[in-house]
Amino acid sequence: MSRVVKFWILYACILLLPLAASGADQFETDVFRTSDGSLRISFLGHASLMMDFHDKHIYIDPWSHVADFSKMPKADIILFTHEHSDHFDLEALKELCSENTLVVMPEICAAKYGEGIIMKNEDVKIIQGLKIEGVPAYNIVEKRASGFPYHLKGIGNGYVITFGDKRVYIAGDTEKIPEMDELSEIDIAFLPVEPPDTMTVEMAADTVKAIKPKIFYPYRYGDTDINELKELLKDQPETEVRIRKME
Ligand code: ZN
Repeated sequence: MSRVVKFWILYACILLLPLAASGADQFETDVFRTSDGSLRISFLGHASLMMDFHDKHIYIDPWSHVADFSKMPKADIILFTHEHSDHFDLEALKELCSENTLVVMPEICAAKYGEGIIMKNEDVKIIQGLKIEGVPAYNIVEKRASGFPYHLKGIGNGYVITFGDKRVYIAGDTEKIPEMDELSEIDIAFLPVEPPDTMTVEMAADTVKAIKPKIFYPYRYGDTDINELKELLKDQPETEVRIRKME
């Protein structure tokens, strides 16, 4: 091999090294134009999302099972919806935290973590310039064998985050609940579709018909046949159903 070829191979390796080292590149990403710049949403898997806005990294329910967070950019904000281990993962939290990270969570998670910004249902806070609203997330129909709902009312949160003129709703673990009728002008909605502890496809379709988001992403869907959602929502042309890898 000539010295020139060796030089160019070495040069290419040096150039590609940061890409290989950055875990964020392996995930599918959608980009949205808002009135205040671009919003990038990366689909990490299950209920884990990363949103990039104004050079800030916002994570929702980061779970070590779906990503190696030691290779991901440090978080400016982390939002946790509730205490279940596939949503509230202290290992992921530790990997993503820097001294500047703000961690937002319901009281039950803060009690385990020992600190953090507590959000209750219906709280509204401005965090690093972003308007973040806590909204209820709970079960009505489905219950454990013990008779208790999988998700009790008043414990976990969904969140609505406003990025410029775009409102993004991350429902958390919930069924269709009456409080969703009060959500307005949702541009992008993430709804969980994994019965019995969250929605059936029929319930998710009914929720989309009630909320009327411009884009609907089913997430945290496990083995559910989510392609049925496109059929159930074919008469709702104002909503685009986008399927990403979020088992
Ligand atoms: Zn849960």
